[in-house]
Amino acid sequence: MEKINNKTVEEWISEKPLLKDIIDLKEVYWINPNKIAYEDVKLPVAISEIERAEKRLKDFAPFLLRAYPELEETGGLIESPIREIDAVRSHIKTESKILLKEDSLLPIAGSIKARGGIYEILKYTEELALKESIIEEGGDYSVLYDHKDFFKKYKIQVGSTGNLGLSIGIISAEIGYEVIVHMSKDAQEWKKNLLREKGVNVVEYDSDFTYAVAQGRKKSDADPLSYFVDDENSLDLFLGYAVAPFRLKKQLDDLGIIVDADHPLVVHLPAGVGGGPGGIAYGLKAIYGDNVHPFFVEPVNAASILLGMYTGLYEEVAVKDFGIDGITIADGLAVGRASDFIMKTMEPLLSGIYTIEDLRLPVYQRDIYRLEDIYLEPSSCAGLLGPILFKENLNDEYFKDIDEKNITHIIWGTGGGLVPEEIKRKHLEE
Ligand SMILES: *Cc1c(COP(=O)(O)O)cnc(C)c1O
Repeated sequence: MEKINNKTVEEWISEKPLLKDIIDLKEVYWINPNKIAYEDVKLPVAISEIERAEKRLKDFAPFLLRAYPELEETGGLIESPIREIDAVRSHIKTESKILLKEDSLLPIAGSIKARGGIYEILKYTEELALKESIIEEGGDYSVLYDHKDFFKKYKIQVGSTGNLGLSIGIISAEIGYEVIVHMSKDAQEWKKNLLREKGVNVVEYDSDFTYAVAQGRKKSDADPLSYFVDDENSLDLFLGYAVAPFRLKKQLDDLGIIVDADHPLVVHLPAGVGGGPGGIAYGLKAIYGDNVHPFFVEPVNAASILLGMYTGLYEEVAVKDFGIDGITIADGLAVGRASDFIMKTMEPLLSGIYTIEDLRLPVYQRDIYRLEDIYLEPSSCAGLLGPILFKENLNDEYFKDIDEKNITHIIWGTGGGLVPEEIKRKHLEE
């Protein structure tokens, strides 16, 4: 194996011992030693920017309501329910409360990508429409629905393992854009088919996510009328995700959930390139400060954020550099090189990262279906390991003085809403 940043793998392991297990594809958990008190964090993104994003989503609500009548109940907002999963709590025998945030049920795209992806396209649409005087700031955005011909001249491109492509493709086609989605080899056939039905141009690569993104970026940059959604670096994607906790606060208040120093909130976020979980963790910290403890979960075969943050190499390292293949059934998390921006932003904020073996995912899928009648796609089940880990290990070290029954876990369910019935059945019967 080649040297990584001038050190052999052996030298790396002697310096960073957890690397041994990471390379051997063993499940690990890592408490982030660089986390600091929230009030001491120098925030790279102002909280007012998240509030601006929330305001923009409200401005677009009348348009979305017109395009998607199913948004009636939320008045044009794209939001998901949260619920207690008490049968899971009994099953794993913990006294902690366990909630599931059902981003798997987010309207339009059926995954967490309905937050960042749709927000970014709306923001770009606003920019074009203001310039063309189709809308004015503070005016009625529902008129956008009558201007599909205008947007047809513009192109949207994105690289994806599946769900981001779905989200960007569905909303962009609805607005009127020409859309090209560059799909990595992980992407499921049904996701490509669904996009093609909506008139989206799907380009397939026999390569990984990083390659699909690079191709998309190259093609888009060469075309002045094309806009590229950059999953690795986009501030707008990040802001779209970061809005979620501002709305979650009300949901938790309504459920009577107390969050304070004696009642910590522990949030389990499946992570791929990092934008979704990173944005949500960022918003959570803005609201709950030191009383919230965000954890990322990654597949053992694609633990790119853990590798980047633990080694301090950030985007300079990919899992392949350590001989890890990046192949996982958790297609939403199949990312070998994570976002530099997210890893650096998370450095003082994130509580830790743990990894999960693929073989647990179908078991969890069937468990939560059997116990709660909830369907989640494999990536979306990864956070279910969290409360089990806490019960077994983390409790002693990380929350020494906290009573188990005072902890509230939120499992962030990230996808599954658009999975076709026959594929659901196959997942659940296998
Ligand atoms: C994309 C995705 C994630 C992770 O989001 P990133 O921004 O890639 O870290 C988690 N779960 C599902 C189902 C996803 O599609």
